Amino acid sequence: MSAGRLAPSPTGAQHLGNARTYLLAYWSARKTNSNLVLRIEDVDSPRVKPWASQQAVDDLRWLGIDWEEGPDVGGSNAPYVQTERLQLYRDALQRLIELGLVFPCTCTRKDIQSAGSAPHFDHEPAVYPGFCAGWKRGDSLPEEGTYCWRFRAGTQQREFDDLVLGHHECVPADALGAFPVTQKSGEPSYQLAVVVDDAAMGVTEVVRGNDLVASTFRQIELYHALGLNIPRFAHVPLVCGTDGRRLAKRHGDTRLSFYREQGVSPARIITWAARSTGMISEHEHVETAASGIEYFDWGKLPQEDTQIDAASFR
Ligand code: GLU
Repeated sequence: MSAGRLAPSPTGAQHLGNARTYLLAYWSARKTNSNLVLRIEDVDSPRVKPWASQQAVDDLRWLGIDWEEGPDVGGSNAPYVQTERLQLYRDALQRLIELGLVFPCTCTRKDIQSAGSAPHFDHEPAVYPGFCAGWKRGDSLPEEGTYCWRFRAGTQQREFDDLVLGHHECVPADALGAFPVTQKSGEPSYQLAVVVDDAAMGVTEVVRGNDLVASTFRQIELYHALGLNIPRFAHVPLVCGTDGRRLAKRHGDTRLSFYREQGVSPARIITWAARSTGMISEHEHVETAASGIEYFDWGKLPQEDTQIDAASFR
Protein backbone atom coordinates (compact mmCIF):
# COMPACT_ATOMS: atom_id res chain seq x y z
CA MET A 1 0.00 0.00 0.00
CA SER A 2 1.34 3.42 -0.88
CA ALA A 3 1.00 6.30 1.54
CA GLY A 4 1.44 10.03 1.59
CA ARG A 5 1.58 12.24 4.64
CA LEU A 6 0.75 15.66 6.04
CA ALA A 7 3.32 16.73 8.60
CA PRO A 8 2.50 20.08 10.21
CA SER A 9 4.91 21.55 12.74
CA PRO A 10 2.90 23.20 15.54
CA THR A 11 5.44 26.01 15.87
CA GLY A 12 2.88 28.58 14.78
CA ALA A 13 -0.22 29.01 12.67
CA GLN A 14 -0.57 27.29 9.30
CA HIS A 15 -0.68 29.78 6.45
CA LEU A 16 -1.52 29.90 2.76
CA GLY A 17 1.78 28.35 1.71
CA ASN A 18 1.24 25.38 4.03
CA ALA A 19 -2.32 24.99 2.73
CA ARG A 20 -1.08 24.69 -0.82
CA THR A 21 1.52 22.05 0.09
CA TYR A 22 -1.11 20.04 2.01
CA LEU A 23 -3.54 20.22 -0.90
CA LEU A 24 -0.87 18.93 -3.30
CA ALA A 25 -0.02 16.08 -0.91
CA TYR A 26 -3.71 15.28 -0.56
CA TRP A 27 -4.46 15.43 -4.30
CA SER A 28 -1.49 13.26 -5.14
CA ALA A 29 -2.40 10.66 -2.49
CA ARG A 30 -6.05 10.55 -3.55
CA LYS A 31 -5.21 10.39 -7.25
CA THR A 32 -3.04 7.31 -6.62
CA ASN A 33 -5.46 5.71 -4.11
CA SER A 34 -2.84 6.00 -1.39
CA ASN A 35 -3.41 6.24 2.33
CA LEU A 36 -2.85 9.62 3.87
CA VAL A 37 -1.27 9.97 7.30
CA LEU A 38 -1.43 13.08 9.48
CA ARG A 39 1.55 13.40 11.79
CA ILE A 40 2.23 16.23 14.22
CA GLU A 41 5.92 17.18 14.17
CA ASP A 42 6.32 18.68 17.62
CA VAL A 43 9.87 17.73 18.58
CA ASP A 44 11.16 21.27 18.10
CA SER A 45 10.27 22.06 21.72
CA PRO A 46 11.24 25.67 22.38
CA ARG A 47 9.23 26.83 19.38
CA VAL A 48 6.19 24.56 19.75
CA LYS A 49 2.96 26.39 20.66
CA PRO A 50 0.41 24.49 22.76
CA TRP A 51 -2.56 25.67 20.65
CA ALA A 52 -1.04 25.02 17.25
CA SER A 53 -1.57 21.24 16.86
CA GLN A 54 -5.34 21.40 17.23
CA GLN A 55 -5.48 24.50 15.08
CA ALA A 56 -3.58 22.71 12.28
CA VAL A 57 -6.08 19.84 12.42
CA ASP A 58 -8.98 22.31 12.35
CA ASP A 59 -7.43 24.19 9.40
CA LEU A 60 -6.97 20.98 7.42
CA ARG A 61 -10.53 19.85 8.15
CA TRP A 62 -11.83 23.28 7.18
CA LEU A 63 -10.04 22.97 3.84
CA GLY A 64 -11.85 19.65 3.35
CA ILE A 65 -8.74 17.48 3.53
CA ASP A 66 -9.20 14.06 5.12
CA TRP A 67 -6.80 11.31 6.17
CA GLU A 68 -6.92 7.63 7.02
CA GLU A 69 -4.50 7.78 9.96
CA GLY A 70 -3.80 10.53 12.43
CA PRO A 71 -3.94 11.64 16.07
CA ASP A 72 -7.68 12.30 15.85
CA VAL A 73 -8.67 9.13 13.97
CA GLY A 74 -6.08 6.61 15.17
CA GLY A 75 -4.56 3.95 12.95
CA SER A 76 -2.20 0.99 12.96
CA ASN A 77 0.92 3.18 13.16
CA ALA A 78 -0.15 5.20 16.22
CA PRO A 79 0.86 7.35 17.96
CA TYR A 80 0.91 10.17 15.39
CA VAL A 81 2.44 12.86 17.57
CA GLN A 82 6.23 12.88 17.55
CA THR A 83 6.66 13.64 21.26
CA GLU A 84 4.82 10.37 21.91
CA ARG A 85 7.29 8.46 19.73
CA LEU A 86 10.55 9.39 21.44
CA GLN A 87 11.53 5.79 22.20
CA LEU A 88 11.62 4.99 18.47
CA TYR A 89 14.05 7.85 17.88
CA ARG A 90 16.18 6.75 20.84
CA ASP A 91 16.37 3.24 19.40
CA ALA A 92 17.42 4.57 16.01
CA LEU A 93 20.07 6.76 17.64
CA GLN A 94 21.36 3.73 19.56
CA ARG A 95 21.79 1.87 16.29
CA LEU A 96 23.68 4.77 14.75
CA ILE A 97 25.95 4.87 17.82
CA GLU A 98 26.59 1.12 17.55
CA LEU A 99 27.32 1.46 13.84
CA GLY A 100 29.93 4.14 14.66
CA LEU A 101 28.10 6.60 12.40
CA VAL A 102 27.59 9.40 14.92
CA PHE A 103 29.78 11.29 17.36
CA PRO A 104 29.04 13.61 20.28
CA CYS A 105 29.64 17.24 19.34
CA THR A 106 30.02 20.16 21.77
CA CYS A 107 30.59 22.83 19.10
CA THR A 108 28.47 25.95 19.16
CA ARG A 109 26.79 27.37 16.07
CA LYS A 110 29.39 30.15 16.18
CA ASP A 111 32.31 27.67 16.20
CA ILE A 112 30.89 26.04 13.08
CA GLN A 113 29.95 29.26 11.31
CA SER A 114 33.43 30.72 11.78
CA ALA A 115 35.48 27.62 10.88
CA GLY A 116 33.22 25.65 8.56
CA SER A 117 33.33 25.91 4.79
CA ALA A 118 30.45 27.26 2.72
CA PRO A 119 27.67 24.77 2.09
CA HIS A 120 26.70 23.91 -1.49
CA PHE A 121 23.05 24.73 -0.81
CA ASP A 122 21.42 28.09 -0.08
CA HIS A 123 20.25 28.87 3.46
CA GLU A 124 22.14 25.96 4.99
CA PRO A 125 24.64 26.11 7.85
CA ALA A 126 28.38 25.95 7.11
CA VAL A 127 29.86 22.51 6.41
CA TYR A 128 30.89 21.10 9.79
CA PRO A 129 34.64 21.62 10.27
CA GLY A 130 35.16 18.28 12.05
CA PHE A 131 36.34 19.51 15.48
CA CYS A 132 34.64 16.69 17.41
CA ALA A 133 34.68 14.06 14.66
CA GLY A 134 37.73 12.23 16.06
CA TRP A 135 35.61 10.65 18.81
CA LYS A 136 35.39 6.85 18.70
CA ARG A 137 33.02 4.43 20.38
CA GLY A 138 34.37 3.69 23.82
CA ASP A 139 35.79 7.21 24.28
CA SER A 140 34.24 9.07 27.19
CA LEU A 141 31.20 11.27 26.61
CA PRO A 142 31.07 15.00 27.35
CA GLU A 143 28.79 16.17 30.15
CA GLU A 144 25.06 15.52 29.62
CA GLY A 145 23.32 18.48 27.99
CA THR A 146 26.51 19.90 26.46
CA TYR A 147 26.58 17.87 23.25
CA CYS A 148 24.45 16.79 20.34
CA TRP A 149 24.95 13.61 18.31
CA ARG A 150 26.17 14.39 14.84
CA PHE A 151 25.98 12.02 11.86
CA ARG A 152 29.10 11.43 9.76
CA ALA A 153 27.81 12.33 6.30
CA GLY A 154 29.29 9.94 3.74
CA THR A 155 31.57 10.45 0.75
CA GLN A 156 29.42 8.31 -1.51
CA GLN A 157 27.34 10.26 -4.02
CA ARG A 158 23.60 10.25 -3.26
CA GLU A 159 20.87 11.00 -5.76
CA PHE A 160 17.13 11.15 -6.10
CA ASP A 161 14.64 11.90 -8.85
CA ASP A 162 12.27 14.52 -7.58
CA LEU A 163 8.71 14.47 -8.94
CA VAL A 164 8.88 18.24 -9.39
CA LEU A 165 12.54 19.25 -9.59
CA GLY A 166 13.94 16.25 -11.46
CA HIS A 167 17.30 14.64 -10.85
CA HIS A 168 19.40 15.79 -7.88
CA GLU A 169 22.72 14.50 -6.68
CA CYS A 170 25.41 15.44 -4.19
CA VAL A 171 28.21 14.05 -2.06
CA PRO A 172 26.85 14.68 1.45
CA ALA A 173 30.25 14.86 3.16
CA ASP A 174 31.35 17.68 0.85
CA ALA A 175 28.09 19.50 0.23
CA LEU A 176 26.58 19.36 3.72
CA GLY A 177 29.03 17.88 6.21
CA ALA A 178 28.24 16.07 9.46
CA PHE A 179 24.78 17.05 10.73
CA PRO A 180 22.98 16.79 14.07
CA VAL A 181 20.56 13.95 14.72
CA THR A 182 19.78 15.23 18.23
CA GLN A 183 19.69 18.59 19.98
CA LYS A 184 21.99 19.24 22.92
CA SER A 185 18.95 18.64 25.12
CA GLY A 186 18.88 15.07 23.83
CA GLU A 187 15.71 15.61 21.80
CA PRO A 188 15.83 14.07 18.32
CA SER A 189 16.44 16.43 15.44
CA TYR A 190 13.89 16.87 12.68
CA GLN A 191 16.11 14.79 10.33
CA LEU A 192 16.10 11.72 12.55
CA ALA A 193 12.46 11.89 13.62
CA VAL A 194 11.15 12.37 10.09
CA VAL A 195 13.10 9.42 8.68
CA VAL A 196 12.13 7.07 11.50
CA ASP A 197 8.48 8.09 11.18
CA ASP A 198 8.16 8.08 7.41
CA ALA A 199 9.67 4.58 7.34
CA ALA A 200 7.63 3.25 10.28
CA MET A 201 4.41 4.67 8.84
CA GLY A 202 5.01 3.15 5.42
CA VAL A 203 5.18 6.54 3.71
CA THR A 204 6.07 6.14 0.03
CA GLU A 205 5.64 9.76 -1.10
CA VAL A 206 6.92 12.86 0.68
CA VAL A 207 5.48 16.17 -0.51
CA ARG A 208 7.01 19.28 1.05
CA GLY A 209 8.49 22.68 0.34
CA ASN A 210 11.52 23.04 -1.92
CA ASP A 211 13.47 24.59 0.95
CA LEU A 212 14.02 21.04 2.22
CA VAL A 213 16.04 19.64 -0.69
CA ALA A 214 19.30 19.76 1.28
CA SER A 215 17.58 18.03 4.19
CA THR A 216 16.48 15.28 1.83
CA PHE A 217 20.12 14.37 1.24
CA ARG A 218 20.66 14.19 5.00
CA GLN A 219 17.61 12.00 5.30
CA ILE A 220 18.78 9.74 2.45
CA GLU A 221 22.00 9.25 4.43
CA LEU A 222 19.93 8.15 7.43
CA TYR A 223 17.70 5.84 5.36
CA HIS A 224 20.82 4.07 4.11
CA ALA A 225 22.44 3.92 7.55
CA LEU A 226 19.31 2.46 9.14
CA GLY A 227 18.52 0.14 6.23
CA LEU A 228 15.10 1.72 5.57
CA ASN A 229 13.11 2.13 2.35
CA ILE A 230 13.48 5.56 0.77
CA PRO A 231 10.21 7.22 -0.31
CA ARG A 232 9.88 9.31 -3.46
CA PHE A 233 10.04 13.05 -3.04
CA ALA A 234 8.12 15.98 -4.46
CA HIS A 235 9.64 19.32 -3.44
CA VAL A 236 7.00 21.87 -4.25
CA PRO A 237 7.43 25.60 -4.89
CA LEU A 238 7.05 27.97 -1.96
CA VAL A 239 4.64 30.85 -1.73
CA CYS A 240 6.35 34.22 -1.48
CA GLY A 241 5.27 37.81 -1.03
CA THR A 242 5.59 40.32 -3.88
CA ASP A 243 9.15 41.03 -2.67
CA GLY A 244 10.08 37.44 -3.55
CA ARG A 245 10.67 36.51 0.07
CA ARG A 246 9.03 33.53 1.69
CA LEU A 247 5.58 34.36 3.07
CA ALA A 248 5.89 35.79 6.58
CA LYS A 249 4.14 38.13 8.98
CA ARG A 250 5.49 41.24 7.27
CA HIS A 251 3.43 40.35 4.18
CA GLY A 252 0.17 40.56 6.13
CA ASP A 253 -1.95 37.99 7.88
CA THR A 254 -2.10 34.80 5.80
CA ARG A 255 -3.00 32.42 8.61
CA LEU A 256 -5.72 29.98 7.62
CA SER A 257 -7.36 30.56 11.00
CA PHE A 258 -7.57 34.26 10.14
CA TYR A 259 -9.32 33.58 6.83
CA ARG A 260 -11.67 31.20 8.64
CA GLU A 261 -12.57 33.93 11.14
CA GLN A 262 -13.02 36.44 8.32
CA GLY A 263 -15.53 34.18 6.60
CA VAL A 264 -13.30 33.51 3.58
CA SER A 265 -14.55 30.33 1.93
CA PRO A 266 -12.27 27.31 1.64
CA ALA A 267 -13.21 27.26 -2.06
CA ARG A 268 -11.40 30.60 -2.46
CA ILE A 269 -8.18 29.11 -1.08
CA ILE A 270 -8.54 25.80 -2.91
CA THR A 271 -9.18 27.56 -6.22
CA TRP A 272 -6.16 29.81 -5.68
CA ALA A 273 -4.04 26.75 -4.83
CA ALA A 274 -5.22 24.87 -7.93
CA ARG A 275 -4.63 27.88 -10.21
CA SER A 276 -1.27 28.88 -8.78
CA THR A 277 0.02 25.32 -9.12
CA GLY A 278 -1.09 25.14 -12.74
CA MET A 279 -3.74 22.50 -12.12
CA ILE A 280 -6.58 24.63 -13.52
CA SER A 281 -6.74 27.77 -15.66
CA GLU A 282 -7.34 31.27 -14.28
CA HIS A 283 -11.01 30.99 -15.27
CA GLU A 284 -11.75 27.69 -13.61
CA HIS A 285 -12.91 27.12 -10.03
CA VAL A 286 -12.63 24.26 -7.61
CA GLU A 287 -15.31 24.20 -4.94
CA THR A 288 -13.92 21.54 -2.61
CA ALA A 289 -10.58 19.87 -1.93
CA ALA A 290 -11.97 16.57 -3.23
CA SER A 291 -13.15 18.08 -6.50
CA GLY A 292 -9.57 19.20 -7.19
CA ILE A 293 -8.30 15.61 -7.36
CA GLU A 294 -9.29 15.07 -10.98
CA TYR A 295 -7.18 18.03 -12.14
CA PHE A 296 -4.06 16.96 -10.29
CA ASP A 297 -0.93 16.06 -12.24
CA TRP A 298 2.68 16.58 -11.08
CA GLY A 299 3.57 17.44 -14.68
CA LYS A 300 1.53 20.66 -14.48
CA LEU A 301 3.34 22.06 -11.46
CA PRO A 302 5.88 24.81 -12.19
CA GLN A 303 9.23 24.65 -10.38
CA GLU A 304 9.32 28.38 -9.64
CA ASP A 305 8.04 29.81 -6.38
CA THR A 306 4.75 31.70 -6.51
CA GLN A 307 4.39 35.35 -5.59
CA ILE A 308 1.17 36.66 -4.11
CA ASP A 309 0.00 39.96 -2.78
CA ALA A 310 -1.03 38.62 0.60
CA ALA A 311 -2.64 41.88 1.73
CA SER A 312 -5.22 41.75 -1.05
CA PHE A 313 -5.95 38.02 -0.76
CA ARG A 314 -9.50 37.58 0.48
N1 GLU B 1 7.11 19.57 9.67
C1 GLU B 1 7.73 20.24 8.56
C2 GLU B 1 7.08 21.59 8.33
O1 GLU B 1 5.94 21.80 8.70
C3 GLU B 1 7.62 19.43 7.29
C4 GLU B 1 8.75 18.52 7.18
C5 GLU B 1 8.58 17.49 6.12
O2 GLU B 1 7.59 17.52 5.39
O3 GLU B 1 9.46 16.63 6.03
O4 GLU B 1 7.73 22.44 7.78
